[in-house]
Amino acid sequence: MAQAPPTAAPEDAPATPEDALAIVEGVPIDTRHWIDGTRVPSASASTFTDHSPMDMDMDMDGAPLARIARGGPGEARAAVVAARTAFPGWAATPPAERARLLHAVADGVDARAEDLAAVETADNGALLRSHRRGVMPRVAHNFRYFADRLLALGHEDFDTRGHTNHVSWDPAGPAVLITPWNAPLMLASWKVAPALAAGSTVVLKPAEWTPLTASLLADITHEAGLPPGVFNLVQGYGEEVGAPLAADPDVCRVSFTGSVPTARRVAGAAAAHLVPCSFELGGKSPLLVLADADLELAADLAVEQYDNAGQVCLAATRILVEEPVRDAFLDRFLDRVSKLTQGDPRDEATDIGPNIHPRHVERVDGFVRRAVEAGAKAVTGGGRNTALGGNYYLPTLLTDVAQDSEIVQEEVFGPVLTLQTFPGGDDDEAVRLANGTRFGLAATLVAGDRDRAARIGARLVAGTVWVNCFFVRDLSAPFGGSRDSGIGREGGDWSFDFYCDLKNTVTAPKGWTRHG
Ligand code: NAD
Repeated sequence: MAQAPPTAAPEDAPATPEDALAIVEGVPIDTRHWIDGTRVPSASASTFTDHSPMDMDMDMDGAPLARIARGGPGEARAAVVAARTAFPGWAATPPAERARLLHAVADGVDARAEDLAAVETADNGALLRSHRRGVMPRVAHNFRYFADRLLALGHEDFDTRGHTNHVSWDPAGPAVLITPWNAPLMLASWKVAPALAAGSTVVLKPAEWTPLTASLLADITHEAGLPPGVFNLVQGYGEEVGAPLAADPDVCRVSFTGSVPTARRVAGAAAAHLVPCSFELGGKSPLLVLADADLELAADLAVEQYDNAGQVCLAATRILVEEPVRDAFLDRFLDRVSKLTQGDPRDEATDIGPNIHPRHVERVDGFVRRAVEAGAKAVTGGGRNTALGGNYYLPTLLTDVAQDSEIVQEEVFGPVLTLQTFPGGDDDEAVRLANGTRFGLAATLVAGDRDRAARIGARLVAGTVWVNCFFVRDLSAPFGGSRDSGIGREGGDWSFDFYCDLKNTVTAPKGWTRHG
C-alpha cells in the first residue's frame, strides 16, 4: 500500500509562507518539519497536499486540508544528525528526569485531547467518538506507562561462582520510527514513548495520508520541555524521505509499522548497516466460532471487525464457524450489520466512517469484485455505499470462498469479512484453516468449553490470541506478529529490549584473585 510520490503539480508547487500554517477543525497546525527543536520548511520548498477522507471523491478533487512540507534526503539527514547530536545528552539524562518529561508530554496530550481527536478524525476519517474516548487517552497512557516502566526496569543480579552478574539496558542511539495512516497518533506514540523512555532520540516519519497529529505532537514535546533534537519529525513520501532515513548509517534502530512490501524495502535499507528492525505488519486474522460459543458474543465480536472501516491490522477478517452453528451465527451477525449506521465520522451515531482514500477504496473494491467473479457471494454489502458516495464502502461479508483464494489469503484492509465453516468437532480442520495464510498477527476464539479453546489456541500461529474477547491490549504484554505479520515484539520490557543495547556486567567478589 506504499504510495508512489505524485509527479505532477500542484503537489510540486513551491511553498508559500501561508503553506506553513493549516487550520483544521479550527486547530492551527504548523505543517513544516520539526528538526533540532525548530520548524523548518523543506530545502526544496516543495509541499504535498493532505486531503480528508471525509470529503474526497473518486476524482480526488476534495478540498485540501493542508499543504505539508515534503521532505527528501536532505531533511532525513538533518533530522538524523539532530538526533545523533542530542543522543549523548538524552541518554545521560537520569531516568527520573526522562520519566518526568514523558509525563509532561502525556499532560500535553491530555490538555489537547479534544484538538487531537478532531484533527485525527478530519485526517484519517476514523470515528471522533473513538478518538475522544479511546485513542487519545491511550496516547497519553503510552507516555505515562513507558515513563513508569522505565523507573521499574531491572533484572535481579545473579551469581556465577561468587561473581555478580548485573544486567542493564543501555540506550542504543537514534531510532527511526515509520508509521502508517490507519491509527496515526496511537501508533506513533506507541513507538515514540518507549524509544524516548529508553534513552533513544527519535526521528518520526508519519504516513503521507495522515501527517497532522504528528505535527501537533512535535509542539507538545516542545512545550513539555524535551531538549532540541530529542524528538524530530520529517514528513513526506516513503520513497523520498522514509527510504533515506532507513538507510542512514547513523541510525541505530528502525521501528516500522506498515505493509509487508514496504517492510521488505526498509529491511533491505537497514541491512546495509546491520541496524536492528522491529516490524509490525499486516494481518489476516481468524475469528473462530465454536459450536458451544455464546453466539450473541460471537456476533458482537464479528461486527466489531468493521471498526475503523476495517482498517485495523488486528481485525479478524476471516470468520471460521463450526458447521452446526453456521446459520444461527449468521442470522445474529446479519441482524447486527443491518443496524450499523454509516456516515460522517464526527457524528456520535455513526458506526462506520469512510475509508482513507479513493485509491484505497478502489483497491478494496477490486478484491471484492474479483472474489465475486470467482464465485463468492456477498450476503451483505459488496460494493460502495452509493447513497453516501465518496470513500464510503458498505460493510461486506463474503461466503463461498475457497481457502486458497485471493480474498482469503490477502489483506484487504477494508470493511470486508469472509465466512468459512469447518465440520463439527474437527479441531484439526479449524486449525488448518486458521493457520492457512502467510500471516500470523492475531486470532480470536469464541467458545463455551475453555479447555477446548485453550487446546486450539495453543496450536494457532499468532502473536496474540483472544478467547471470548477482542482488542484487550495491555501495554505490559508482548505485541507483534509471526510469519509475514512482523518481526520482533514490542510492549512492556520488550520495547526496552528493542530500543536498548542490553549489557551484562560481571564483577568478581571482593578480594578475589585469579591465582589465590
Ligand atoms: P505502507 O507500508 O504503505 O506505509 C507505511 C509507512 O511506510 C508510511 O509512513 C510510508 O510513507 C512509509 N514508506 C513507504 N515506502 C517506504 C520506503 N521505501 N522506505 C521507508 N518508508 C516507506 O503501509 P500503510 O498503507 O500506510 O499501512 C497499512 C498497513 O499497515 C497494513 O498492512 C496494516 O496491516 C499495517 N499495520 C500493521 C499494524 C501492526 O501493528 N501490525 C498496525 C497498523 C497497520
